[in-house]
Amino acid sequence: MKKALFVRAGAQRFRPATIRPMLSHPRILIAEDESGIADTLQYVLKTDGFVPVWCATAEEAIAQFAAEPPALAILDVGLPDMNGFELFKRLQALNREQGGPEVPMLFLTARSDEIDRVVGLELGADDYVAKPFSPRELVARVRTILRRSGRGNGHSASIAPAPAAALPASPFVLDAERMQIRYYGRLLELSRYEYGLLKLLVQRPGRVFTRDELLELVWDDASESFDRTVDAHIKTLRAKLRAVAPEVEAIRTLRGTGYALNEELPPSV
Ligand code: CA
Repeated sequence: MKKALFVRAGAQRFRPATIRPMLSHPRILIAEDESGIADTLQYVLKTDGFVPVWCATAEEAIAQFAAEPPALAILDVGLPDMNGFELFKRLQALNREQGGPEVPMLFLTARSDEIDRVVGLELGADDYVAKPFSPRELVARVRTILRRSGRGNGHSASIAPAPAAALPASPFVLDAERMQIRYYGRLLELSRYEYGLLKLLVQRPGRVFTRDELLELVWDDASESFDRTVDAHIKTLRAKLRAVAPEVEAIRTLRGTGYALNEELPPSV
């Protein structure tokens, strides 16, 4: 199954825990037109105690979602009647209208240009496994996400909690309690991993972090992620920082090594 798996875990995941009852048999919506893949997914999900609901079209998925929101949705990017990105937006809107707990969604895709699009579009895709994945791996990922969303936030315990503090002469103001970061006075809208990355860098200006260290310190399960994941998140993070201060290069790239926060940032822009 040569498809990559995307995990949406947007910034809204940081809001205080919505209590999601941990159902013993969570419903998993699958929007996938290839029956072979759908069969495999259904089989492994059932084996693991989930209740898969297979939809071969986007319209069907929307109807199912409207009837009863699932615990999680798996969306194929290439569907016959609508692409997975459009479906994602429709389901997101539906989810908001329904007002229930946020439904995590995963993208399934076979093509690397789609991976770039998911990351580039900033739909909220926050993590992915960029390799052919095994059904077992997928179920493990589904479990991780449900556990995470059940917790409301799942930020890695390996990042030491820090009190709200303005670092001396830094344009960054970290509010760890609210999991927020201000940059030149502006509140940044960050996804969970962007927040984790920036927090780590901001706490130790100048310190070079290798990609492996960042994966280890920021991601819940580093073994499920890859170096490219770090690069993709740094890219979106930089775009958000540039939107506030176009002239300032806050994050330095050390070729072949990793990333560091620029120690000499102007105090104002
Ligand atoms: Ca397809």
